[in-house]
Amino acid sequence: MASPKPSEQTSFLIVGGGTIGLSTALHLSDRGYKHIVVLDRGDSIPSSFSAGNDLNKIVRAEYEDAFYATHALSAINAWRTCPIFRPHYRQTGYLVASSSTAPPKVDSHISRLIDSISSHPSYPTSSLTSLPSSAAVRDKIPQLTGQVKGWSGYFNGHAGYARAAPALRALYNELLARGVKFHLGTSGDAIAIHPDEETARFFPAPKPYLRTADNNIHCADVVILAPGAHTARLLPSAGAQLTAKAWAVGHVKVSAGEAARLKGLPVINCRDLAFFFEPAKDEGGDTWLIKVCAHGGGYTNVPENTSTSIPPSNAEENNAILREDEALIRRLLLEALPEFSTRPLVRKFVCWCADTADSEYIIDYVPGYENLVLAGGDSGHAFKMFPIFGGWVVDLVEAHAQKESRWRWKARESDGKEDIHWRVGGVKDIKETIRKGDDVEAARARL
Ligand SMILES: Cc1cc2nc3c(=O)[nH]c(=O)nc-3n(C[C@H](O)[C@H](O)[C@H](O)COP(=O)(O)OP(=O)(O)OC[C@H]3O[C@@H](n4cnc5c(N)ncnc54)[C@H](O)[C@@H]3O)c2cc1C
Repeated sequence: MASPKPSEQTSFLIVGGGTIGLSTALHLSDRGYKHIVVLDRGDSIPSSFSAGNDLNKIVRAEYEDAFYATHALSAINAWRTCPIFRPHYRQTGYLVASSSTAPPKVDSHISRLIDSISSHPSYPTSSLTSLPSSAAVRDKIPQLTGQVKGWSGYFNGHAGYARAAPALRALYNELLARGVKFHLGTSGDAIAIHPDEETARFFPAPKPYLRTADNNIHCADVVILAPGAHTARLLPSAGAQLTAKAWAVGHVKVSAGEAARLKGLPVINCRDLAFFFEPAKDEGGDTWLIKVCAHGGGYTNVPENTSTSIPPSNAEENNAILREDEALIRRLLLEALPEFSTRPLVRKFVCWCADTADSEYIIDYVPGYENLVLAGGDSGHAFKMFPIFGGWVVDLVEAHAQKESRWRWKARESDGKEDIHWRVGGVKDIKETIRKGDDVEAARARL
């Protein structure tokens, strides 16, 4: 059941000041709402628990599904024009390819991406170049020093990447300036919803309040849950439709001279191996880094005697990657930028998001409560929507109901192991990383 239509006096409590939570706060503020409080368990924003707290994220509009392509084109427009986001967007272009060993699924996915985007009425089709051979890939992107043997795909000039952590920080600062209140660390760590879902069944649509780790209580006219991969910890029923999954990330240090040579490099995404970006520095940092992220089906973390994947509470467990993933990363470098393929990978970690079985977001009221909203199910593709995602959450609250059926709360059970049509590889459990360890030498030996 939905809460009454909001007014300027309506109070909003957002749990999670990550990609979706901050975007929601922005759109609430843009539409004139004055009473906005954000809780985040991180000690600062961007939070160390946020999937968006990263050097960079791809911003592109190719989706097999024109629905998301349309939204992503709007998001790109916002990245290019909105003063908060514009400084953090780099329109370097985007190369999508398959390697010589890609399964057929990858090439058919790439064909559907090309069909979808090239027929989209708002896409500037002159930005798309077909690259049917490795020679065509090398001609288009001369900074690639590798042979890219057997690669084929396309280049999209109307795409690029966002400097993710600085974009989150910029919006955080903007929200502070607008009077949005934040509770961070222990005082922002929501540990329980009252009444919990079991108890809520015995009341007619209760209004929930949140208890934080400092034992304080927070309530509001509308409570919006946006804790990303951590959602099922707070709201166990969401675990039936959201699976916390992680992917491996590593970085290669490069010199200032190497960074200068690679300046303007498009995002290189070999869909069956991994993807990497133009070298970038952390804010205030002096080290140039190439971020590389492995593809695959992702990791889950299903604790013993449970059936729901949630990110490990011990952050240390996230600071290792499987040797198979390191091998994917190294093979991509060997094929595209071989001079970096044997350099140590630094800052290795796994990054968690909330996957749904059909990769659809979930933006809806939580059944059983009067005014509790879930904004999540990012499925690994929500950062690009950072400038606009919150608008959909505010639309929901103002309309009292989710008109877009694909974003509704889904009662259906997901075991998190479904074959996601645009991903390659099976789902593994993160406990494997602990058992196998961070075996770099073995990964190298496999190349
Ligand atoms: C490896 C990897 C690569 C990706 N690459 C891309 C890409 O190139 N392009 C793209 O568009 N998307 C990409 N994504 C997806 C993108 O990062 C996510 O879709 C997006 O960040 C999800 O936003 P969110 O707000 O749901 O979660 P998050 O950004 O994770 O935010 C959740 C917030 O909730 C807080 N929180 C959690 N629990 C609590 C609690 N109990 N109380 C208070 N606060 C809490 C956390 O501290 C965090 O700040 C990638 C994801 C991964 C994993």
